[in-house]
Amino acid sequence: MIQSVSFIGLGAMGWHMASHLTQVCSQVYVWNRTFAKAKQHEQTFGTQAVDLTQALQADIIFSCLPTSQDVENLIADSQLKQGCIWVDCTSGVPETARKLSQQLKLNGVDYLDAPVSGQTIGAERGTLTVMVGGDESAFKRAKPIIQAFANLVEYVGESGAAFAVKAINNTLMATHLWALAEGLSILKSQGVNLHSAMNCINHSSGKSNISEHIMMQRVLSRKFEKTFALDLLQKDIGIALNLVTQNNLELPAFSLIQQQFNQVSKPDAQQVDFSAIIKILEQQNQLELC
Ligand code: NDP
Repeated sequence: MIQSVSFIGLGAMGWHMASHLTQVCSQVYVWNRTFAKAKQHEQTFGTQAVDLTQALQADIIFSCLPTSQDVENLIADSQLKQGCIWVDCTSGVPETARKLSQQLKLNGVDYLDAPVSGQTIGAERGTLTVMVGGDESAFKRAKPIIQAFANLVEYVGESGAAFAVKAINNTLMATHLWALAEGLSILKSQGVNLHSAMNCINHSSGKSNISEHIMMQRVLSRKFEKTFALDLLQKDIGIALNLVTQNNLELPAFSLIQQQFNQVSKPDAQQVDFSAIIKILEQQNQLELC
């Protein structure tokens, strides 16, 4: 019986994800490093802002922090209840998932890697895709709760499998973004109207989620609205490329994509949306995609 759930990390994603949990559980605790955000969440959504010790006593504990290292640090200092499930929605490192899963199992706690996709709008609408790795029976127990903020909740395999799927998904997204911007640079230099070109591409075989949404809404509009920081995408590409190295694979396109996205330093990348990487390509070619 799941009687209480908690959510740790009320950032761009976690803020919205936690708001849906009141639909499936009467006791929803929230904790955030900057505690004022947790109080604000309580006032806005009727959750309960609690200290970290109490948040860690829930039957299911969700976390959505920037990196696996942040989650690992938190778990290292934690006393958890036997039988609880830690559902880590961070886009994290497969190896860390395996390590945390083994470590927590010794204390009778299940750890699931459960990263999400669908951006802040999907979190707000409760329509995220959630990929889950780890113990399958723990997954079955947690699934009805995860469904509060998801349209698709898919079990993808053992511990670490979901973090791997997420890293590959985001590297594909980065590849689509960069490749589309290269294509539009050619069209711009040919004097083609980019809005008309996009309309054609979005009715043709070259379309993607990036062409249908991000390119129009953030790049061609010149808004570059920040919902997903560039440094987080650099982290995800790094996770994918580490898997390439660990498995002795030769994958030139992904390596090239990493080089392009790492042209921005981490401090600068923290400040901007991932779509702003296209400004680098524009500078290199002395043109603006608009
Ligand atoms: P944000 O930077 O918006 O939020 C991060 C949250 O983690 C904040 O609540 C922050 O607290 C907290 N936090 C940061 N460091 C620590 C720490 N060391 N200890 C405790 N709490 C900490 O990130 P997002 O919500 O954008 O991303 C969260 C995760 O979700 C990342 O792994 C990201 O890759 C992934 N993701 C993001 C998407 C997006 O569109 N933004 C889409 C899909 C996945 P505080 O308020 O105190 O700063």
